[in-house]
Amino acid sequence: MKKPSLYIVIPCYNEQEVLPITAPLFLEKIESLIAQGLCNEESKVLFVNDGSKDNTWNIISDLAKQNSRFKGLKLSRNRGHQNALLAGLMHAKEVCDVTISIDCDGQDDINAMDEMMRQYHDGCDVVYGVRSKRDTDTFFKRVTAEGFYKFMHIMGAETVFNHADYRLMSKRALDGLAEFKEVNLFLRGTVPLVGYKSTSVYYERNERIAGESHYPFSKMLNLALNGITSLSTKPLRYITSIGIIMAFISFLFIVWAVIARFTGHTVAGWTSLVGIMALVGGIQLFCLGIIGEYIGKIYSEVKQRPKFIIEKTTDEE
Ligand code: UDP
Ligand code: MG
Repeated sequence: MKKPSLYIVIPCYNEQEVLPITAPLFLEKIESLIAQGLCNEESKVLFVNDGSKDNTWNIISDLAKQNSRFKGLKLSRNRGHQNALLAGLMHAKEVCDVTISIDCDGQDDINAMDEMMRQYHDGCDVVYGVRSKRDTDTFFKRVTAEGFYKFMHIMGAETVFNHADYRLMSKRALDGLAEFKEVNLFLRGTVPLVGYKSTSVYYERNERIAGESHYPFSKMLNLALNGITSLSTKPLRYITSIGIIMAFISFLFIVWAVIARFTGHTVAGWTSLVGIMALVGGIQLFCLGIIGEYIGKIYSEVKQRPKFIIEKTTDEE
């Protein structure tokens, strides 16, 4: 088999402290992958500068001048991690056979790339890097991050547990991903929808080499909400269920209020007031849920997601 060309895609935002340390590590890694015959000489390390306000872009362009193995992509402004990553991947898929996306802070173990590439050679189109444990994260980060995956799951947004955006994707998987036209793209949730043979590779996550996390709790909450609302309409269905339950409870409540009225435990006017309040509350929530269902339908239509992606035909067997 012809050796594939690999692009390692790395989004960077205000990473001037980290890049000079991690860039040589990425270089060393890609050279070793080439030496092992896992990818060919065309392989590159692609940095995506996500509108950094510091010296990041200068560092990237210097790296590219020094060594042709490095390449940089500059976004017009800061668009956030997900969009920066997507920009890198969409650029790379036109020129290479396989990509591995990773953060530039050295937290994800680059040595997992060897195994990822081996899995690719074994026929996998998507290989997820999954954290085996979170010892190096603070207690707060660990609890909130794991809560994040569980909450997403309850809300109907399927994601790979403890997998961030460290993953290998083949060109055809990226072509599939490109068919998802939605604006609010949440890669961790969308990539599994692309399909094809996939697997996971486990690694231990390190501490950030330098600089600070760009994902404080507020941003993580934002990512979770974005993930849920762009992947699932389950929350709307929950509202409908609550509405039905409320309507039922209010019915029982009315029966009780009427009984209380006739057994003389009430002041005049109380029964009707309580009854109307309970009934209207229940009906309102129920109606909101129904409206929500339709909004949910509109929402999924507007996205124009591909309904299928053809892997191959019998002619190609
Ligand atoms: N990043 C980006 N744009 C942003 C924020 C972050 O490209 O607006 C990049 C950042 O440079 C890093 C990756 O996304 O390579 C993950 O960010 P970070 O390490 O801060 O997140 P954490 O690992 O703490 O969740
Ligand atoms: Mg990080």
